[in-house]
Amino acid sequence: MGCIFCNIIEGKADASFIHKDDDVVAFMDIRPVSKGHLLVVPIQHGSSPEDLPEEIVTKTFETALRIARGVKTSELAPAGINLFLADGKAAGQEVFHLHVHVIPRYGDDGFHISADAWAEAPPDRAELGDTASIIQRAI
Ligand code: AMP
Ligand code: ZN
Repeated sequence: MGCIFCNIIEGKADASFIHKDDDVVAFMDIRPVSKGHLLVVPIQHGSSPEDLPEEIVTKTFETALRIARGVKTSELAPAGINLFLADGKAAGQEVFHLHVHVIPRYGDDGFHISADAWAEAPPDRAELGDTASIIQRAI
């Protein structure tokens, strides 16, 4: 079995690298949803942010933001950028080695974000407040 991202980091599997330092790498996604779709990956293996030292997760996001800024000013000239992290199977995680997607957007590019809830009435202020309290108590 093994972890495909660990294999890439160890040079045992192919990748098109954008960045490498002591803690974080970035390489092109093998099935890009848009031109320039890339992944920012900590070298240390961990599936979820809680599995890794906070400074490594922070550095991963900082690197993703820095690369996203570069993508914006690059010849790719996207109209926008999505940053995306899937934490857990239910969130769509398929590779269980933490990674932040940097997804350049080009207007009508065929990558859709949708939710059934958008077809329903939104929660009222009281419900939003209750949910806010639940989260507030946990942080
Ligand atoms: P996620 O659903 O967030 O776990 O996404 C995993 C991502 O990893 C997908 O976008 C895949 O296309 C990408 N991926 C899987 N294997 C490779 C690989 N060998 N090299 C580059 N990207 C990969
Ligand atoms: Zn790994």
